[in-house]
Amino acid sequence: LAALASHAMRPVAAVLVGPPDPYAAARIAMQAPETPVFLLEPPRHYDAPSIASAAAAQHPTIEALLAIATHAAASAPQPHAARARGDAAPPLPSESAGGTRHTSRSTEAASWAERDRVSVWHPYTSLEDPEPPQVVVSAQDEFLTLEDGRRVIDAISSWWTILHGHRHPVLMRALAQASERYDHVQFAGLTHRPGVELAEAMLATMPWRGGLVFYSDDGSTAVEVALKMAYQYWCHRGEPERTQFVAFDGAYHGDTFGAMAVGRDPVFFGRFEPLLFQARRLPVSPERLEDALRAHRGQVAAVILEPLVQGAGGMRMHTPDTLRAIHEVTRRHGVLFIADEVMTGGGRTGELWAHRSAGIAPDLVCAGKTIAGGVLPLAATLASPDVVAAWRTSDPTRTFFHGHSFTAHPLACAVGVANWRLLASGLRETTGAIERFWMDRLAPLCDRPGIRDVRVRGTIAAIELDAAGGYLAGVGRHVRRLGLEHGVLLRPLGSVLYAMPPLGVSLASLECIADAMTQAVAAVSRPS
Ligand code: PMP
Repeated sequence: LAALASHAMRPVAAVLVGPPDPYAAARIAMQAPETPVFLLEPPRHYDAPSIASAAAAQHPTIEALLAIATHAAASAPQPHAARARGDAAPPLPSESAGGTRHTSRSTEAASWAERDRVSVWHPYTSLEDPEPPQVVVSAQDEFLTLEDGRRVIDAISSWWTILHGHRHPVLMRALAQASERYDHVQFAGLTHRPGVELAEAMLATMPWRGGLVFYSDDGSTAVEVALKMAYQYWCHRGEPERTQFVAFDGAYHGDTFGAMAVGRDPVFFGRFEPLLFQARRLPVSPERLEDALRAHRGQVAAVILEPLVQGAGGMRMHTPDTLRAIHEVTRRHGVLFIADEVMTGGGRTGELWAHRSAGIAPDLVCAGKTIAGGVLPLAATLASPDVVAAWRTSDPTRTFFHGHSFTAHPLACAVGVANWRLLASGLRETTGAIERFWMDRLAPLCDRPGIRDVRVRGTIAAIELDAAGGYLAGVGRHVRRLGLEHGVLLRPLGSVLYAMPPLGVSLASLECIADAMTQAVAAVSRPS
């Protein structure tokens, strides 16, 4: 493939014919991520029945290959037709008038973006006036490579998932090794070593001894599981009237129904209000929580909070003291405390789990995003021994009836185990260095006109602009464009511009991010 590329030839696919060789396929995918690889087994004999049966057995692969070839033929500049007519072969893209290799790449980028517009519905994206998506062809360390050849710094770790850096070699190796043994296996009635090992590793970092890990696929489902467990816990304890939850202003817990009910953001979820169950929203204040729990004694199942940093709500931060005081109120009132660590887990705030900085013991901990290093979707709800004890009964109706097809995906768990080992050393030093960098470079901006606040915690830095419009503030689009011009992928949360790079980010990239943020802030807060 490299040799072909050096002659400006870009095959639309690579087909390996022979016994399945996932290692070779993985190597090709690594070297040439834009070239899809297909594995085809040859027929047992080269006679009609064997060929027919091999083709039938591999029909979906052949169809997919055919679709790619057909599409490529349709969008190619017709070289075959020219040759068939006996004309000279068309020039290679690099030889054609004014056509450089760069030009041919950008033509292709346009075509992917166009094909995307026709067939893909993106999250949080208007269908009417969308910004054309950037086409990413590969990712490495803190960088994304776009199809036009630009390399941009992923300053937000691909929605806060990528923990150490893209395609970290240790995690990629763990994935390749696990894929020699597993694809997926269901998790009811079966188990596997990666699932057990990862659960043990995570439980060992909890403030209690014992407890259990319940796996799911993403942060929202980890939250759904925690909410369902909390309510069922009270049912088992003979208090089914505890149907309410308490959450906090600025909270975001995911997009599924239970998560929306406790998130209750008017822009995101206002439309679904008639369908949401009861949940109170309070300011992040132990006193207000005390009042609410006193007023609704015996009605509240659990309090849910993103410890230290409320992420999607605008990187709003509170202190470990406030967190501790809120937790203490739940203890006094005998209400469960759910720590939603989907974003804060995995060391983003400087500690492995944000709740550790307050020395508290939540009853349920939700984890997602980073637990498989961001490589694969995986989430978990960790339940304390007290919560688990409510299910220790032989009554079959007291089962936790919840599960997802891909619960505890073995490949994701195997990567998770490797990820957890990586996290075991040097976390505080790394996050401390990033935190100091943000404090030096960004904290002084807080006195500038147009800036309401600058907040830093661990690897997270946020600059809140004095802009109207909340999440829909118009500055977002502007900042995204300015960021890209500086080679940095930024995606503000409304008027809050933030960065959350992977732990392995280099100092040079941190400098670029800080420069891009500073210049974006200057540009958007300049009086027009
Ligand atoms: N909880 C928190 C604190 C989050 O930040 C998010 C996602 N940003 C979620 C839950 C939902 O996670 P997911 O997007 O993986 O469903």
